[in-house]
Amino acid sequence: MTRHGLDDRAWSELEREVVDLFTALLRVDTTNPPGNETACALVLRDYFARNGIETTLVGELPERQNLTARLDGTRPGPTLSLMGHLDVVPADAAEWSVPPFGGVVRDGYVWGCGSTDMKNQVAAEAVALARLKRSGAELAGTIKFAATADEEDGEFCGVRWLCREHPETLRCDYLLNEGMGGLWLPVGGRKVFLLAAGEKAFAQFRIRTRGRGGHASVPEKEHSAVIDLARAVTALGLTDPPAIVSAMTADFIDVVVADAELAARLRDPRTARAAGAELRRLDPEVASLVEPLLGATFTPTILAAGKAVNVIPTHAEAFIDCRILPEMTLEVTREIVRAVLDPLGIDWEFEWVDVTEPNASPAPTPLSESIARVLRAEEPGAVLAPMCSGSFTDSRWVREAFPDCVAYGFAPFVAESFHAMRGGRDHEPDERILVEDVTYQALFFERLARDLLA
Ligand SMILES: [Zn+2]
Repeated sequence: MTRHGLDDRAWSELEREVVDLFTALLRVDTTNPPGNETACALVLRDYFARNGIETTLVGELPERQNLTARLDGTRPGPTLSLMGHLDVVPADAAEWSVPPFGGVVRDGYVWGCGSTDMKNQVAAEAVALARLKRSGAELAGTIKFAATADEEDGEFCGVRWLCREHPETLRCDYLLNEGMGGLWLPVGGRKVFLLAAGEKAFAQFRIRTRGRGGHASVPEKEHSAVIDLARAVTALGLTDPPAIVSAMTADFIDVVVADAELAARLRDPRTARAAGAELRRLDPEVASLVEPLLGATFTPTILAAGKAVNVIPTHAEAFIDCRILPEMTLEVTREIVRAVLDPLGIDWEFEWVDVTEPNASPAPTPLSESIARVLRAEEPGAVLAPMCSGSFTDSRWVREAFPDCVAYGFAPFVAESFHAMRGGRDHEPDERILVEDVTYQALFFERLARDLLA
């Protein structure tokens, strides 16, 4: 019997090595804030030391260090960086079936806060590096490894800081990091793997309305900041911004939407929005991937107005979480807001709250081709679907610092599908990953390095 190309015994040994390291990382509470990543980095340092790999701790704060390592090949070639953050989001133990920092293995899963976001990938990348070192693999090029701090909150002493203060630790031709990449869905009998080639940017803003304040016994229907704000929030929250279909998104639609006629309507910006609503009814999971790629999203999140129930407030404000595509600009986004709000006939003020520059790497590239080759050795029908992730990752800082670097989010799940995981488990109670999936991830990173740096 073989599993993913390994005989039973070799697979069990790999599984034990991955699960031991992975659960040790999960048992260190790296909730950010405050982070406490150094304690977790020390677990990795010990593991690498046992495997003859030197590591360096660098960071701005003693308790928030980043761990870096490298493995040089025997001849020149490209540099591949394997990166992952060690911090996790806060978990409420009362909402979990197991202790979130217990490193529990049960029912075929490894459970814990960070088990998919993203201590799994850190453990898998570390084991891949150790196996390459132990086997004396003769690589052309260099592998760099970085387990980093401060991704989930703040972003001041992690990858952004490393890119500025110690760029050599991350400088590379190819980078693999988190994202939605590696999740797969079945389409027409084939496994389609998401490849996060880019990410949308924040274009978060605040809308403020003003009105005549006064005693609540006399309503101010025409000049009420609250009523005007409610209208603005409703209009923005329900609007379908103009559709944009980039070449990458058009290809993505073709791969993940099996119905060719529906796919054609999704690819046409004039019919994309209506087709997106149809897709939402047919397959909400696939729609959750496709619809955010069709343009800006406007999600009202914070509302504020008034302090006393009997006083009409003079102003009201709403925060809108807006995410834009790499093809869009802030000016275009603001024009969309204007087009939605001006017809309401209300007075409104606009202010950017948090904006970032979107960026993306091209596909295909030698890295995506190598990923596809390694996957197909396992799954002959595997298809890679490059896309733009809706959430922010540290890949953005690396693309910004090293414009020629191709950075993807990718760590393949082979057993559990995107639908079975209901779109993924990041930041959720009972975050967990199949032992088989995290074990395969280690094998994948090892095989990828051997293929890319052959
Ligand atoms: Zn993450």
